[in-house]
Amino acid sequence: YKQDEKAGFKAYEVAEDILPYFIKQVGPFAYKKLANVQSKTKFGGMENAGAIFYYENSVNSKDVESLVAHEIGHQWFGDAATEASPVHVWLSEGFATFLAHHWLEHKYGVDSLRKRLQEDKHTIFRFEKRRKTPIVDTSTVTDYMVLLNDNSYKKAAWVLQMLRQKLGEEAFWKGIRTYYAKYMNGNAATPDFIAVMEKTSGQDLKQFFKQWLYTPLHPRLRITWETDKTNHGPHLHIEQLQKVPYELPLCITIGDTEYNLNLNDKVQDINLASPLKAGSLVADPKGELLAEIEVVEK
Ligand SMILES: [Zn+2]
Repeated sequence: YKQDEKAGFKAYEVAEDILPYFIKQVGPFAYKKLANVQSKTKFGGMENAGAIFYYENSVNSKDVESLVAHEIGHQWFGDAATEASPVHVWLSEGFATFLAHHWLEHKYGVDSLRKRLQEDKHTIFRFEKRRKTPIVDTSTVTDYMVLLNDNSYKKAAWVLQMLRQKLGEEAFWKGIRTYYAKYMNGNAATPDFIAVMEKTSGQDLKQFFKQWLYTPLHPRLRITWETDKTNHGPHLHIEQLQKVPYELPLCITIGDTEYNLNLNDKVQDINLASPLKAGSLVADPKGELLAEIEVVEK
């Protein structure tokens, strides 16, 4: 809009840095040009291929950078590589949300990513109280708008981040690039993405995707632990309180000592080597798990 010319060019100028960064991370941009347009839309943004429409007041919004990164992310996921049906909408919205987080992490550091993930975690848990469906949600065939929700956006972005932690930077981005290259200007469903990630990483990811994409809600852990009284090291009694146990990597610290545990059962009893110095137990200190964790000291 004429009257917003100055604010508008300023607000959208981050696009000039985001575009080449996503090309480097994901693969070639599929269109001739990218226009960022102040417009009328009932959404925050509408990711038309090559010409993104943003809502009118976006030029004055403080959070415009994450919106711009999200919509630009859609040029790869949603526009160029499109989900085969609305059930798989997380392949579009989850990816765009993840790429916006990742852009801000790249620009402002890992703490900004952690902060956003923690905020999203609480939003997801609140949302799950209202709608108890998995990310790949087959519960509706009529009202697809309800599938645009905190599961397909925020929880799915969390799943991609946990996948990244599981595979490591190299294997994760290699998988993302391979998936994009294969489905650019085409359609993909969730099993197509899983197949590419398994093939490029050489890992069996069936349980990971089953528990995070096809299972509703999230894991709830209770860790009951005893401090070292007999010099045998701390004892942990870990329960998974949700219906079906997840396979989870769990990092804990006691004092300054870090322990990395693998959970895979309803109840596990674990004896740890004594920490270098005594202290309280902190579970998931880096905020890497989409889980509720209760710690009880006996
Ligand atoms: Zn979106």
